[in-house]
Amino acid sequence: MGFSAAVSNSPRILPSSAFASETTAKRKICSLPSLCRSLSLLHGQPRFRLSSASQLGKRISPTIHVAASVTDISVSKSMDEVHLPKGDMWSVHKFGGTCVGTSQRIKNVADIIINEDSERKLVVVSAMSKVTDMMYDLIFKAQSRDDSYVSALDAVLEKHSLTAHDLLDGDELASFLSCLRNDVNNLKAMLHAIYIAGHATESFTDFVVGHGELWSAQMLSSVIRKNGIDCNWMDTREVLIVNPTGSNQVDPDFLESERRLEKWFSQNPSKTIIATGFIASTPQNIPTTLKRDGSDFSAAIMGSLFKARQVTIWTDVNGVYSADPRKVSEAVILRTLSYQEAWEMSYFGANVLHPRTIIPVMQHKIPIAIRNIFNLSDPGTTICHPLVTEDEDDQTLDSPVKGFATIDNLALVNVEGTGMAGVPGTASAIFGAVKDVGANVIMISQASSEHSVCFAVPEKEVNAVAEALQSRFQQALDAGRLSQVAVIPNCSILAAVGQKMASTPGVSATLFNALAKANINIRAIAQGCSEYNITVVVKREDCIKALRAVHSRFYLSRTTIAMGIIGPGLIGGTLLDQLRDQAAVLKDEFNIDLRVMGITGSRIMLLSEVGIDLSQWRELLKEKGEVANLEKFTQHVHGNHFIPNTVLVDCTADSHVASYYHDWLRKGIHVITPNKKANSGPLDQYLKLRALQRKSYTHYFYEATVGAGLPIVSTLRGLLETGDKILRIEGIFSGTLSYIFNSFIGSRSFSEVVAEAKEAGYTEPDPRDDLSGMDVARKVIILARESGLKLELSDIPVQSLVPEPLKASASAEEFMRQLPLFDHDWTKERKEAEEAGEVLRYVGVVDAVNQKGNVQLRRYKKEHPFAQLSGSDNIIAFTTKRYEKQPLIVRGPGAGAQVTAGGIFSDILRLASYLGAPS
Ligand code: ADP
Ligand code: ASP
Ligand code: MG
Repeated sequence: MGFSAAVSNSPRILPSSAFASETTAKRKICSLPSLCRSLSLLHGQPRFRLSSASQLGKRISPTIHVAASVTDISVSKSMDEVHLPKGDMWSVHKFGGTCVGTSQRIKNVADIIINEDSERKLVVVSAMSKVTDMMYDLIFKAQSRDDSYVSALDAVLEKHSLTAHDLLDGDELASFLSCLRNDVNNLKAMLHAIYIAGHATESFTDFVVGHGELWSAQMLSSVIRKNGIDCNWMDTREVLIVNPTGSNQVDPDFLESERRLEKWFSQNPSKTIIATGFIASTPQNIPTTLKRDGSDFSAAIMGSLFKARQVTIWTDVNGVYSADPRKVSEAVILRTLSYQEAWEMSYFGANVLHPRTIIPVMQHKIPIAIRNIFNLSDPGTTICHPLVTEDEDDQTLDSPVKGFATIDNLALVNVEGTGMAGVPGTASAIFGAVKDVGANVIMISQASSEHSVCFAVPEKEVNAVAEALQSRFQQALDAGRLSQVAVIPNCSILAAVGQKMASTPGVSATLFNALAKANINIRAIAQGCSEYNITVVVKREDCIKALRAVHSRFYLSRTTIAMGIIGPGLIGGTLLDQLRDQAAVLKDEFNIDLRVMGITGSRIMLLSEVGIDLSQWRELLKEKGEVANLEKFTQHVHGNHFIPNTVLVDCTADSHVASYYHDWLRKGIHVITPNKKANSGPLDQYLKLRALQRKSYTHYFYEATVGAGLPIVSTLRGLLETGDKILRIEGIFSGTLSYIFNSFIGSRSFSEVVAEAKEAGYTEPDPRDDLSGMDVARKVIILARESGLKLELSDIPVQSLVPEPLKASASAEEFMRQLPLFDHDWTKERKEAEEAGEVLRYVGVVDAVNQKGNVQLRRYKKEHPFAQLSGSDNIIAFTTKRYEKQPLIVRGPGAGAQVTAGGIFSDILRLASYLGAPS
């Protein structure tokens, strides 16, 4: 085993430069069984030597270099060296982990490369998908002294060995397998050392985790060679030289990399090169990486070194979307992005592209294409200078915001105190302390009063930052110049990105408005001077909801509302059927996506993750329904992370359900209901509800509580909001009683008409519930309160139409049997009215002038509009300052499932338009 670990302090022995060592022979994988290579780690870190075959693939003298330095590397060109041509003849392609995730996919990649018609191709390849994670896990296990690293390493070996058997045969297979085994043996030894030490240095880790790329690059190049194409693979640790910068980043040394590339190419003058992504070396030839997801960056550096025509990043999505398509299913593909926009998107978490990818290619104006390996017909996204290909098609929908991205697992640090104002150097002292602990500041926001500086850092770095600040500012804290260094954990950043934001007013307003409407609290805000991004910090649990809310707000997706329907009885059921019939039209023509996530009755409920299929909600409720639980129901409908807005529609007449409204509104759940119980219940509770609704962005609509689908509450609101003064509201509010008195004519008796109404289903099962007048009284109180009167239900005198002796009747049947006993009284009353040219009508009155209300049987002249009614119509007359002589009258059918459900439905659409649906 060629492994030994030793600690040495000085003098520093630079490693062998086997990476850059001389070879003139044509490259062939593992033409030598193995090669010993020495690596040394810097500054007192353990220095190790190991033999590794996968850094090979070429005939190299087996001499072990122990003291070669960078300056020893000969760059003088020998006579037969081939000059590296640069420029448009090169295209660079990068294939991400999923593109090479299986043997079939590797074959597919080989086909794409072979069929690509560039003169010369440089292909950067990632490790097979999941392999880098597996490699990091090996390190984690070994340093945690978990000996399952051994079997985990075997799994890595097995995965690559199986893939190679699928792809290769003969010598190519044998030499790859020999390299693979050799590498795995070395890794085993190395992990064993880490296991013993219980610790892995960064260099050890980088060395181990980069193997996935070494293996995938070798396999891919062998497959291409198998197809008769001249092809070499490049271990980019021989070429790419980078300087670590501290905060988990590296800076490429372009000059040195270029020198090494020239040399490498002179020895491997191939038209197709398969290069490892992700890995590189330090100037001291220590293997390192470009950090997680760094293969995109590798490709960009290569593009810049070759001055390539284009860099194509092949991945598993069609391109850059307006938001992460895993989080926002309605995200749209962006056909073009400026370099700046792409940078901002990737910096703020769009991991389709590594943020460092942009700069190397931007300098040379090299466009980047993002393409989907699984959908070759899609043109993908092009990232380039905006002037070159400013988008003419409709894909950006003219939105000033191109896209949104999020970063999770952040904490905010807030340094606060009056002693900061005007003191020069405070910010530099704060960020100096942060830099000292190597933390990465992602966003900074400072109020202009200078009383507080607030910034976001990765959650895992926040303790160190807080401690550093506490100790740096101990004196200022003791003296009270600083009041606190506060940490707010569990935060996420949401960024809106777009070049056009700079010249478009109102973008921030729309963004914040969308967040407010989704009831999301913003913790901090920053907008770069370039105005290419606006960044907000929100609670982590709100992040996806926030993303969805802002995304739909900028018309990139439909206005989506999660709905919960409570009470699927006559009215609720009719509403569900209406929703079913109208859903497609709403979606296609009005951009409104209503998703019923749950339906609950008093005994069973039906929940869905994506939206219930309304064409069979009755069957589903019966077959798949679970035991009803209102808390669980609410949690389910509101708790989904992908729909920004929730509405609960209470179609019951239940005061228990109504008692939840306050809590729902407080949680940001909108409420729509025909249930009169909340608005006609105790005054203080009603006032609390309205106060809460007014100060939040949560909506509470109840048009169908009065007059079913007739626009009564909205008419009243319209009058009040435009400054009219309500004097009196008088109306026939009960469809049942309207029907009864409209039909109580000629020779008919009162009991006969009631029986007919009951028969036709116009009354409640017990007609006394209608005749008692309580339902009308509740409507009167709702309108009275809407008009500003502070009345309780008990303040409304109600004339009951139930004859006193029958109030105690045991049942509805008993009542109906006895009702004819009173027909005489009714007929007498009607006759008296008729003789005076009048009719009887049962009305509710809001007397706003005297702050009173009542419900009673009144007489109206035959010419009066109330006398002209037919069927079960409602009629409501608003007498106001503007409509004083001639009241404003609303008339129409005021009862029945269809019109009531229609009233609820129109409240739902009103909610959608308040939430941003186009009108
Ligand atoms: P690869 O392994 O090919 O480098 P990555 O997983 O690094 O692939 O990046 C592709 C993934 O990035 C996509 O599958 C997608 O889920 C995610 N992603 C995040 N934000 C975006 C976005 N705005 N547009 C496209 N993809 C995104
Ligand atoms: N394989 C590396 C990673 O998973 C680099 C990359 O795929 O971009 O982080
Ligand atoms: Mg990636």
